[in-house]
Amino acid sequence: MEKNENLMEKLVSLCKRRGFVYQGSEIYGGLAGTWDYGPYGVALKNNIKNLWWQKFVTDREDMFGLDGAILMNGKVWEASGHVGGFADPMTECVKCHKRFRADQVGEKCPDCGGAFGPVRQFNMMFKTQIGAVEDSSATVYLRPETAQAIFVNFKNIVDSFHPKLPFGIAQIGKAFRNEITPRDFLFRVREFEQMEIEYFVKPDEWEKNFALLQEEIKDYFKQVGVTFSDISELEVPAEDRAHYSKRTIDFEFEYPFGRKELCGLAYRTDYDLSQHTGASGQDLRYFDEAGGEKFIPHVIEPSLGVDRVVLALLISAYTEDELGGEKRAYLKFNYQMAPIKVAVFPLLKNKPELVEKAKEIYLALKKEISSVAFDDNGNIGKRYRRQDEIGTPYCVTIDFDTLGENPELKDTVTIRDRDTGSQERVKVSELTQFFKDKN
Ligand code: ATP
Repeated sequence: MEKNENLMEKLVSLCKRRGFVYQGSEIYGGLAGTWDYGPYGVALKNNIKNLWWQKFVTDREDMFGLDGAILMNGKVWEASGHVGGFADPMTECVKCHKRFRADQVGEKCPDCGGAFGPVRQFNMMFKTQIGAVEDSSATVYLRPETAQAIFVNFKNIVDSFHPKLPFGIAQIGKAFRNEITPRDFLFRVREFEQMEIEYFVKPDEWEKNFALLQEEIKDYFKQVGVTFSDISELEVPAEDRAHYSKRTIDFEFEYPFGRKELCGLAYRTDYDLSQHTGASGQDLRYFDEAGGEKFIPHVIEPSLGVDRVVLALLISAYTEDELGGEKRAYLKFNYQMAPIKVAVFPLLKNKPELVEKAKEIYLALKKEISSVAFDDNGNIGKRYRRQDEIGTPYCVTIDFDTLGENPELKDTVTIRDRDTGSQERVKVSELTQFFKDKN
């Protein structure tokens, strides 16, 4: 797809106008790095998360789900290395005092042309206090990644389920990073969601499992509908890898603002479980019955940012074309991702017999298919445009023929296809099956 310059502006505006994403705390002037998802945004995000959960957890026998607490004992983050090292290099303009990530700016301040002061390390974890006593023992952090809740629960899962290696623990949840310069809409935010798996393997089996997960991630993006040719895999060189990683692949996406990370796949060795063993004094080794030995498993971690997937999907789906001589913009979501699958209209709003029939069909469909909408606002052209913009694949219209004006067409409706605008007549009794076949 052509990625024109204004694409981000158009998307931000569509997302606000149509109820996908709003600026966080907007009526108070906003809060940098935060966004609120409106009704269609929540639905889209849930579809993205549900597909991931289904593919990586429900459909597999080697994955265990987890929903850990956001607040964790501060010692977790000391052991993981985040208190000491989860920092970005920060520099400040000596003239306007704006702060920037030192690795993302040139010699001079992009805002005022001033010179930069010295670079210092800025820890990105949000700190807060727990309980009424304000001393250092009460310091807690909003988690900057979901992964640590998984490591901390490794022993619990092993004790409850006795899984055989390899197996994974998966989690979807919020993460928080005090980014120095949040920007690019949902791309770099301070509060976001991650979908992470820690996949535990025997040390000599990491390469095989790394390759398997790499393929699964690609398959997931295909199913979501992110433009696959815009995804590339970057083998991260040793000097750029996180301290715990022996191999990392970044899946990058061609965003309109450049090729940037969409998600990561890292071989974390036995770093985290070893750290937690040392710091907690707990034995986090795994007993391998077949080999009769105890050892700390190694870990492969696919880590996806939900918000970056939402953004990549919006960018992939945004399409402009001409239909019936009119220009239009629409979101070309696949059926599974679309927030609304089917919209049902009466041809005219002021004909009670049409509205009644449309409501009846709408309610019957709603029982069978999730995410059906009823729309009788404005004329039919406006309704089509609205549904196109939110990416609804099908619109069903109830007209006078449905009621029997043309007896041959009684109890049939038109289904309009979002992408082509073409319409076909289908029997009401066959509607549910028509849509079920699309899923
Ligand atoms: P970047 O280099 O872009 O800051 P990162 O390498 O720090 O990202 P990871 O620590 O690997 O990111 O986090 C895993 C995933 O979490 C990323 O691939 C991304 O999808 C998501 N993510 C990380 N930081 C943010 C953020 N500030 N806003 C939105 N998503 C994020």
